[in-house]
Amino acid sequence: MEIKELGEFGLIDRIARSFTNNNPSTVLGIGDDAAVINAGDNHTLVTTDMLMEGINFDLTYIDMEHLGYKAAVTGISDILAMNGTPTQLLVSVALGKRFKVEDVDALYNGIRRACDKWHVDLVGGDTSASYTGLAITVTAMGLCKPGDEVKRSGANVTDIVCVTGDLGTAYMGLQLLEREKSVYYGKLADLNKKMKEAEAKGDKEKLQQFTRQRSELNDFQPDFAGREYLLQRELQPEAPSWILEKLREAGVKPTAMMDITDGLSSELHHICSQSHCGCRIYENKLPIDYQTAVMAEELNMNVSTCALNGGDDYEMLFTVPVGDYEKVKGIDGLHQVGYITKEELGMKLVTRDGNEFDLTAQGWKAE
Ligand code: ADP
Ligand code: MG
Repeated sequence: MEIKELGEFGLIDRIARSFTNNNPSTVLGIGDDAAVINAGDNHTLVTTDMLMEGINFDLTYIDMEHLGYKAAVTGISDILAMNGTPTQLLVSVALGKRFKVEDVDALYNGIRRACDKWHVDLVGGDTSASYTGLAITVTAMGLCKPGDEVKRSGANVTDIVCVTGDLGTAYMGLQLLEREKSVYYGKLADLNKKMKEAEAKGDKEKLQQFTRQRSELNDFQPDFAGREYLLQRELQPEAPSWILEKLREAGVKPTAMMDITDGLSSELHHICSQSHCGCRIYENKLPIDYQTAVMAEELNMNVSTCALNGGDDYEMLFTVPVGDYEKVKGIDGLHQVGYITKEELGMKLVTRDGNEFDLTAQGWKAE
C-alpha cells in the first residue's frame, strides 16, 4: 500500500491505533501538540519534531542561524500550545560532508538565541552523519500544573474561535524569497547562454565581459525593501507566549488550543475532529497584514487562501467559552475569527459575499 493513500494523518492514526498506554504516568499520549506525563506535583510535557532539508526547509532561503532558531521555536511552540512552560530542549543533527564547523556553530547560535529568549536549557541530543541533506530533530520538554494543560479535544458548541497575530505572512515571505531566487537564477541562466554564444563565436572580449558579470552576480542583492516584515515572519517566527500570560491575567482558560504551523484550516480540522464539533469561520475576520495583502495581490494569489493554508505562522489557535467574550475581547493581537458549531454542521468558511464553503484541510501528503 502506498503511503500517499493514507496521508500523514492516516499514517499517524494507524501507528497510534497499534499501541496502548500501559504506564499510569502516561496522562496523554499520541494525538496532541505534546504528550503529558505525570511527574508528581507537576506534569511534564514532551514533544518532538523532525526537520528534513528539501522537505521542511531549503538552505537557499534560510541561513543556518535562522534555521536553528526556527527549529527550536517549533518545539517551544508545541509546549506553549499545551498551555505549558517550555523548560528543556534536546536537539539531534545529521550532517552531510558539505557542512563546516562554522555552519554547525551558526545553527547552534540560533538555537541558543531561542533558548535564551524562552529560558530553556539545551540538555542533550545526538549527532550523526548523513549521505544526503541536513536533518534536525528537536525534542522539547515543558512543565504544566496538573489540570492546566489545554488539549485539542476540549472545544464546545458556541465557543469562540480565536487566533493571535496575523496569518499567511510567513507564507508570503517564502513566496518573496522564491521570487528573488528565480530572478537570480534567471540572470545566471541568461549570462551562461551569452557566454556560450561568445565562446562559439570566438569573441574573447564579450566572453570576458560576461564572465565578469557572472562573478558580479555573486553580490546579487535581492529586492526586499518594504517587505522586511514578511521575511522576518518566515525566518524568525515568534511563538506567542504572551497570549498565555494575557489569558491567565484575564482569568480565562481556553477549552482547546494548538499552534498554527500547517495553516489555520488544517489546525481547525484537528480541533474539530478531536472535539467532535464543527465551526464557522468568517473570511472578513481573518487577520491579514497589509504587506501580506499587497504581496498576494502582486502574485495574483487569493490572500484568504494564503491566510487559511499558508504554513509557518507560529501563531496560536484556541477556543474560549462564549461567556468569556467580554474578558478576552480587549486583548491586543487577539482576533475572533468564528465560532464552534455542532459536528453535523461541518466546518464552514463564510466568505465576504456571504457564501458558504467547506473548509478543507491540506496537511502533508507523500508524493
Ligand atoms: P505537530 O504539528 O504538533 O508536530 P503532528 O501532526 O506532527 O503534530 O503530530 C500529531 C500527533 O501525532 C502528535 O501527538 C505526535 O506526537 C504524534 N506522532 C506523529 N508522528 C508520530 C509517529 N511516527 N509515531 C508516533 N506518534 C507520532
Ligand atoms: Mg510533528
